[in-house]
Amino acid sequence: MGCVIATKKMMKPRDYKSEVPVVWCPGCGHYGVLDAIYRALAGAGIEPSQLISISGIGCSSRTPYFLHSYKMHTLHGRAGAVATGAQLARPDLTVMVFGGDGDGFSIGGGHMPHMARKNVNMTYVLFDNGIYGLTKGQYSPTSPSAMKAYTTPYGSPDEPLNPLLYMLTYGATYVAQGFAGKPSVCAKLIQDGLQHKGFSYIHILSQCPSFNTVDSVETYREAVAAIPDGHDTSNLGDAMTLARDGVNGGIPMGLLYQITRPTLDERMHAIVQGVSGHKGYDLNRIITLSRP
Ligand code: SF4
Ligand code: MG
Repeated sequence: MGCVIATKKMMKPRDYKSEVPVVWCPGCGHYGVLDAIYRALAGAGIEPSQLISISGIGCSSRTPYFLHSYKMHTLHGRAGAVATGAQLARPDLTVMVFGGDGDGFSIGGGHMPHMARKNVNMTYVLFDNGIYGLTKGQYSPTSPSAMKAYTTPYGSPDEPLNPLLYMLTYGATYVAQGFAGKPSVCAKLIQDGLQHKGFSYIHILSQCPSFNTVDSVETYREAVAAIPDGHDTSNLGDAMTLARDGVNGGIPMGLLYQITRPTLDERMHAIVQGVSGHKGYDLNRIITLSRP
């Protein structure tokens, strides 16, 4: 079960709710994502005392406040780097990262490839609302082209980044996408990500009715399409095709890709064993096994 600590105690979603009031705008998609996170944690049976939740800056980065867990509210874009350190220091705990599209792919864009390629044993939930919400409406790396926002009054001149292709390209071993309007689907994807050994990336489309008037909940609801049952989740090429072309043009929702290979903490453990003269150390074998 990877980094998950299995317990005999039955957990309920409410066991993860902190005493801090949730303070997002009415209609914000993040409420659905938070609900999914509570359900996923309960489904995976993780004790709050075994969970570290880490975030950067942004509306979604407030999530750790609403969770009953150990938590770190870190620097803008740096949550993944902090989480990597936390995971190496305490590989026995479950590490989760929460953040948005700007935090992850703009300010934190230098960190995303490395969590993926190193296969850090953590679960990263990215709330994508295509805008900087906390700072009141600047366009982000995932804003639709030509979208008008506070910093693009004549329309965005950029093409949006494709986060799924990005994470697949850099070697993430679990890549899934959900939509905040379907919290049950998101809960399943997050729970499976928690139970995956390695770097699990769950991308969730989450509307921001206050500042993104293009990607509304109604638009998403019509645009998303479930990934067909026959999809081979171990085939990188098929996953990339889905990430690029969607499902008959619809936004793919579900699990795109999942493989196993040794994690960063396993490799580091092997090195420590070797340096300290333990028998059975063979980093080359572990590295060979780690190649997909
Ligand atoms: Fe949600 Fe947008 Fe309000 Fe932030 S600004 S809480 S993302 S609706
Ligand atoms: Mg955002």
